[in-house]
Amino acid sequence: MPTQTNNSPSIRSFSHLELPRSQLDNLTQLGYEEMTPIQEAALPLGLGGEDLIAQAKTGSGKTAAFGIPLLNKLEVKSLVIQGLVMCPTRELSNQVADELRRLARFQQNIKIVTLCGGIPMRPQVASLEHGAHVVVGTPGRIRDHIEKGQLDLSQVNTVVLDEGDRMLEMGFKGEMIHILGFTPEQRQTLLFSATFPEDIKYISRRFQKNPMEISVESHHDMETIDQQFYICHHQEKLEGLVKLLAFNGFEHALIFCNTKKLVQEVSDYLEDRGFSALALHGDMEQREREQVLIQFKHHSTNLLVATDVAARGLDIEALPAVINYELPYEQDTYVHRIGRTGRAGLEGVAITLFTEKESYKLSRLGELQGHALSYESIDLIPNKRGARVKPKYVTLYISGGRKDKVRRGDVLGAITQAAGVEGKYIGKIDVVDHSTYVAVEPDYAHQVVSKLNQGKIKGRKFKVGRLV
Ligand code: AMP
Repeated sequence: MPTQTNNSPSIRSFSHLELPRSQLDNLTQLGYEEMTPIQEAALPLGLGGEDLIAQAKTGSGKTAAFGIPLLNKLEVKSLVIQGLVMCPTRELSNQVADELRRLARFQQNIKIVTLCGGIPMRPQVASLEHGAHVVVGTPGRIRDHIEKGQLDLSQVNTVVLDEGDRMLEMGFKGEMIHILGFTPEQRQTLLFSATFPEDIKYISRRFQKNPMEISVESHHDMETIDQQFYICHHQEKLEGLVKLLAFNGFEHALIFCNTKKLVQEVSDYLEDRGFSALALHGDMEQREREQVLIQFKHHSTNLLVATDVAARGLDIEALPAVINYELPYEQDTYVHRIGRTGRAGLEGVAITLFTEKESYKLSRLGELQGHALSYESIDLIPNKRGARVKPKYVTLYISGGRKDKVRRGDVLGAITQAAGVEGKYIGKIDVVDHSTYVAVEPDYAHQVVSKLNQGKIKGRKFKVGRLV
């Protein structure tokens, strides 16, 4: 397999690529001035029609790395499915579809549908009946649609396997193979994966043609992360965590636990102790998970306590801190977890709590990193009392979204004009299928809720409330 490795963060403009002017303008509008390393390595090859096997993490710009070639090839006049993207989770599918929709703005009328499990099939069938160019979804649900004769993949020319290793870990190997069998032999297959276990190599051998291997996994990531380890007794862990959080006063941190039960226990405990914390795990309803993620992205909660599975594909900006409430079972998982901080050269801190029993895992981590990792006793952290850091925003919920033709600008307009609150008090606005989420500074939340409930957005009445 030919190898192309790129570790240097070289500065490259998209204009070096053979892309239509309209796409270059669109990228400028999106604020993409330079290619990220994965884009720099993948785009020339992807646009040249090569199969790729690429190592890239969420946050690296990988969606554009496969999305731009996929969209560039579309025959928009022909309303048949030409691009298929498989992702391990609903969250990642939705994020990928959102990013593809932004990248698709260079041309009118590109239709992208998501097909994910855990939500009713009927609206998905209706979307497919209207026709689409690109399908993004989870393997189980894509297979279900194929079985029911609702999904024709015979005209697909690009297949993307996103987070391939995660899909395999989640037991989707059979589905992936089954689905690939319904796509034409003549296709471009782009495989993205953080790690390359034997099963991934098997999928690549079986379904790719002379794939170019791309790796932009850089080592400086680890160097910009300040790794701290604290040993404590099992029964002191919750208090140890409280001490660490109070001492550091983090405004935005992700806390990992190995199990769903612990996620709930830890987040409940933190809430009881006056922190702003929410839990995220796989047992929660899809909608609840969406709302928790949005609140974290909006900075409406300071701390997010999550399992690895639930945090997968989470598209959040570089975090100042990641905390391991316990050491993960796998080394890769540790690297993946802490890679969410210290991104793009920013400083980050990764704090890990561990018990005597887990110390062998610390030694193994040290071997992996090529030097012994030092640790301290949690008792060395002083107890800091006093007020907790308050979240910067609260998130409001509006009962209308993209499917109701609500746009970001309409919401911002209604808030600034009808509710009379200046734009500077508003944070992120996320428009999803049937709802919209708006971050508002706490002092203005009441005013916005009451005015928007009395008034209209785009001439229609919607329910507006506060997420709790
Ligand atoms: P991804 O790794 O695809 O999840 O992308 C992470 C984030 O980076 C997304 O919010 C993208 O919109 C953004 N992004 C992707 N490529 C670029 C780029 N070249 N310049 C700036 N932002 C980018």
